[in-house]
Amino acid sequence: MAQREVTRVSLADMRLCNIIETDDRKLLTCGRCKKTRYCSKDCQAENWETHKSTCKAQNYILKISLCPTEITNPSVTRTLSCPSTATFEQLRRALQIAFDWASTHTYDFKIKDPNVQPEPLTDMMTYITRRMEQDAAQFGDKPIPDAGPRQNHLRIIEKDPMGPGGFASAKGLDSMHNRDRVHSQTPEIDSKKIKLSKVLENKEYKGAKIEYEYDFGDCWQHMVEAVGRSEASKGFLYLKGEGHGVAEDVGADQGWLKLREAYRTANPTTEQREKRSWFESGASNNDPKGLGNGREWEWDMNAVNAKLRR
Ligand SMILES: [Zn+2]
Ligand SMILES: [Zn+2]
Repeated sequence: MAQREVTRVSLADMRLCNIIETDDRKLLTCGRCKKTRYCSKDCQAENWETHKSTCKAQNYILKISLCPTEITNPSVTRTLSCPSTATFEQLRRALQIAFDWASTHTYDFKIKDPNVQPEPLTDMMTYITRRMEQDAAQFGDKPIPDAGPRQNHLRIIEKDPMGPGGFASAKGLDSMHNRDRVHSQTPEIDSKKIKLSKVLENKEYKGAKIEYEYDFGDCWQHMVEAVGRSEASKGFLYLKGEGHGVAEDVGADQGWLKLREAYRTANPTTEQREKRSWFESGASNNDPKGLGNGREWEWDMNAVNAKLRR
């Protein structure tokens, strides 16, 4: 399944020293740019002063799938080339544009620990008790109690969610749900302060799934998969994708499937007609053209790439 982009390399890029590769003498490749080649470690050290100004770490090619188990036919996926030095906040911005989200809710990235015990299923009574404990913790100095075993190595969060444009504004509901995500064993870091390479090169996270979750009410889970490397670039670049962007506040994955159904039927019910009209004018990321005539498959990569440059 992995897609690899073939990096075009000129001869000048390839060698810094004058040694030609032969069967007996294999050249080494610079671990950072994966382009420039050397005859030996000593030769690399000697040439570093000259090389370092042009040596750039390759981009990561990330494939992001929105609720991949639930949303299929069409699935909603986007593949991006991402600078390794970009922050997770910058990745978030590129993802919001790629998926046509209106950004009225908050988000987090989770580096999931593959070796954890599953979280216990909570009944209503446990849930209410925990909420009360959380309230007490918020106003006292006790830590928020954990719901179960730790699930994530790390949570990358929106800093200052109570600030302007944060939880205190349109994101109030997200703020309430945010407390369920806090775990005493999972460190949290500001998305503006962590670069992609810090996570993708971290040996401790090898094999860990990365999830981007947008909107803590509808819980849009985006699976982030590193599928290859490509030439370093200054900004993000969309490479491919499929599936119309999902309607904000449609009622999670099941709500989206119902909305699609409302467009697929030849004889919509009153409820289905209302859903269509909400999507065409009421949704915060509304699409006046709706999803009829196969538009559920449409995603305009060029338009989105142009929007990203603005
Ligand atoms: Zn050499
Ligand atoms: Zn290099």
